[in-house]
Amino acid sequence: MDIYKTLKGFISKEAINHICFRYYNKYNPLAVKPLNKTPMWFKQMTCDCCFTPLDSIGRHNRYYLCKIQEFEKLTPRQYQFNYDYYNNPNEIRINYDTSPYSYNGFVYCYKIDQLSPRSYSTWFCSRQCALNAAKKMNALAFYYDEEEQSVAFITPHIVEINRAIHESDYTPLLMMDWGEHNWFQKLSDYKDLSLYGFDTSYPTFSTRLCNVVKPSVRLLNGYKRLVLDPDFQKDFWGSNGAAISNHINNSLPNFMNHVDVDFGRRLMIEWFITNKNEDFIGFIHLTCMSNAFPYKWVVEFGLVKEYRGKKIMKTVLRGILNWAKNNGCDKIYAISEEHNHPAHALFNNLPFNVTENRTHMSDQFGGFRPMRNYIVNL
Ligand SMILES: [Zn+2]
Repeated sequence: MDIYKTLKGFISKEAINHICFRYYNKYNPLAVKPLNKTPMWFKQMTCDCCFTPLDSIGRHNRYYLCKIQEFEKLTPRQYQFNYDYYNNPNEIRINYDTSPYSYNGFVYCYKIDQLSPRSYSTWFCSRQCALNAAKKMNALAFYYDEEEQSVAFITPHIVEINRAIHESDYTPLLMMDWGEHNWFQKLSDYKDLSLYGFDTSYPTFSTRLCNVVKPSVRLLNGYKRLVLDPDFQKDFWGSNGAAISNHINNSLPNFMNHVDVDFGRRLMIEWFITNKNEDFIGFIHLTCMSNAFPYKWVVEFGLVKEYRGKKIMKTVLRGILNWAKNNGCDKIYAISEEHNHPAHALFNNLPFNVTENRTHMSDQFGGFRPMRNYIVNL
């Protein structure tokens, strides 16, 4: 067995020790030696305009783009005259008045699309790229700056506005609540990070009982069987039935496309788990769930019934969390149903600092119900 192939993408010795150390010593004691350094996965992203890789970006550099539905450039007099129209509390409107700073000031009046779910959340390498995207999309781009604890905004007219008020490219705004993930670039525009010289090998590993692999078309039927199983749905979504099955059936045709793109864009990483015959037995993924919080990562997983209770997920989960830790992630969130005792045991016995909260939560399928959430500090 080629150990290096199996561990491709895993840089951390710690992860190796946790997952496979005994295994190596037993079967191939000479195989443990330092691996080549690869980039910190959680701190790497590509610009959504020019695809420049962004390295070690931390928690900022993230932009939110909202479509402009209406735009008018008014004189302060016109604006005052129609003040109520441009300040309708039932619409999302932003009015930017440059007249206090300029002899020939105007009021730039924007009505923007709902912040969720049609707004975009994405990354750019520079203000110029953000501005180019905003212009092309006719959108307002907001930018959360963690260091300054503020939100700045870029409009297609920002150059003109800034010329009038003698400002830099950004104008701070108040913090707002953000929408879903969407990208400026389409799936078909995506360029793999390897084009820019990054090592993009998908991290995979093996343990005594199973393999953790990149999803493949061959294994997709096994995945489909698991997620369409009503008992599994009850454990995973808190409910089962047609709404969930429709949701799954709608997303499956695009599943394989998203695996590569989500991995490249650092929005999600999906693994399938196989047994030693390489049959599908489960999945685990890390998802960037962030709506309001940049870089909020959530772990979710599932195993085929016959493979539960064999400590498979215990080993796999620890392996994945160690990989995340060694690739720049400092915190992982998880949610479980109140009745899912095996999941509670898994989280409460992790070798990390874990906070468990018993709470009531509501979501799209299961409604309002008792649940537990976990914060794992890596
Ligand atoms: Zn760029």
